[in-house]
Amino acid sequence: MDYSLLTGVYARLEGISGRLEMTDVVAEFIKEVPDESLSTVLLFLRGTPFPSWSSLELGIADKLMVKALSSVSGLAESKLNDLVREKGDIGLVAEEALVSKPQTTLYSETLTVEKVQENLGRLAKLTGKGSQDKKIAYITELLSNASPQDSRYIVRLILGQLRIGVGDGIIRDAIAKAYELDPSVVDRAFNMRPDWGEVALTAKNRGESGLKDYGIIVGQPVKVMLAQKAESLESALEDMGEVELEVKYDGARLQIHKDKDRVSLFTRRLEDVTRQFPEVVKDSLNHVKAASAVIEGEVVAVDVGTRRPLPFQNLSRRIKRKYDIREMVDKIPVEVNLFDIIYHNGGDKSGLEFRERRQLLSESVDETDRFRLAENLVTTDLKPAENFYKKALDMGHEGVMVKNLKAPYQPGSRVGYMYKLKPVMESLDLVVTGGTWGEGRRASWIGSYLLSVYDPESGGFLEIGRMATGLTDEQLKGLTELFKPLITSQEGRSVVIKPKVVFEVAYEEIQKSPTYSSGYALRFPRLVRVREDKGVEEADTLNRVEMMLKK
Ligand code: AMP
Repeated sequence: MDYSLLTGVYARLEGISGRLEMTDVVAEFIKEVPDESLSTVLLFLRGTPFPSWSSLELGIADKLMVKALSSVSGLAESKLNDLVREKGDIGLVAEEALVSKPQTTLYSETLTVEKVQENLGRLAKLTGKGSQDKKIAYITELLSNASPQDSRYIVRLILGQLRIGVGDGIIRDAIAKAYELDPSVVDRAFNMRPDWGEVALTAKNRGESGLKDYGIIVGQPVKVMLAQKAESLESALEDMGEVELEVKYDGARLQIHKDKDRVSLFTRRLEDVTRQFPEVVKDSLNHVKAASAVIEGEVVAVDVGTRRPLPFQNLSRRIKRKYDIREMVDKIPVEVNLFDIIYHNGGDKSGLEFRERRQLLSESVDETDRFRLAENLVTTDLKPAENFYKKALDMGHEGVMVKNLKAPYQPGSRVGYMYKLKPVMESLDLVVTGGTWGEGRRASWIGSYLLSVYDPESGGFLEIGRMATGLTDEQLKGLTELFKPLITSQEGRSVVIKPKVVFEVAYEEIQKSPTYSSGYALRFPRLVRVREDKGVEEADTLNRVEMMLKK
């Protein structure tokens, strides 16, 4: 399919802000897209070149993009950099620069969505020496065949800044509308198989029954069931009667897929981390007794000597490391604490009650001291529950999980089947969307951060406050390094930061405020930690802020 058909729709969407109208535009468009292009078109509409569970990543920085633009347009990099600063959007700069590109290369070949995807796939697979030049070559090839409007969106897609306001909610409703389905059926299917392309194709060709048939496929991640915050142990027990308490380990969620001799590991954000944890792959092969299974647990880094749990940062080093993995396995050992099973020997077990799933889990795993079931207690009484909670905290864990023994596993939802309880003051997980350079001694560091909630409808962000105080020099230095590559534009001392990083922020109070686009502000926000395990789409929303305020 011609790429320009898609960019025409992008341009229309950019011009409207009403959710319903946007949904209509997307629905009308996808009805016309031929089957063979539908998957790619949906990924591109959502602003991502690959499905979330794919291990492919583009990793293109603005600087490299400017080089590619310079090569196609003939404009100097310094001139392009000036334009980026002026416009604050490298996509618009690309469009403008390419209006005047040399005529010889103009429209030499019709650009298709397939061609864009092919080049991006190749680009993502490039590593090592000389890869920069090849990356530039792939981007240049695309831009040479692109119209100025096409280039605006190719550049934004590659940099992960599409900015057309189409989030999962609009895609879901558009698919429902295009194929006359109930949005909840589309939603469930997406949680089971988080790939809009596949969901749309099934919706189109097999309708509701096709989507309802969706079950777990071993090797493809399912969206994880999420936890709500419990008010207290007392209220949780009152609500649910008998509960299972489990230690809340401070690590990363792992979804372990085993199919005979093949194991895949996914994080809660559905990233494939199989290569990073060879010892977990081995343990899954040796100690999961089923031929096929999907199991969940928390992987935790532990001290080499004492084997006490280490803070999340240590584990994060394991997750990020893509080379010399062996060395890391010895340096930062991990343990896995298993807590759920949703697939077993060919059968989907997500509909079973948690009590039965836990039983099946214990029958399916040969426990060792580094691959074992999460510590638990089943009770109806407050006293033993409190003792368990206290013991978990004494052992240095984050808190406890309180689980409904009768509940099924509901992928992707925060439905109140599983609660978390931690002894901290209220906190929100917020996205950093801007900052301000410090003054005087702190002039080379970003001294304050603009925080935003996530808006799931539009996929955009709403500001809720600034956090400036309480950061040590050491922290400011580290954070500045983290954010420097994410700065997209600057005006005076203020910078706009690409929404990529989530801060867990504690605060004293939420107040109504006209200053910020969310309509609220936080009093005395302070950084608890960087939530490296969370994507920006998992940050807290305006809804949650309003709920907290009511409380
Ligand atoms: P939070 O990230 O604060 O929303 O808390 C939920 C997360 O706690 C889950 O996604 C898991 O990664 C983690 N977790 C740690 N221990 C457990 C457990 N025993 N059961 C379920 N989740 C756990």
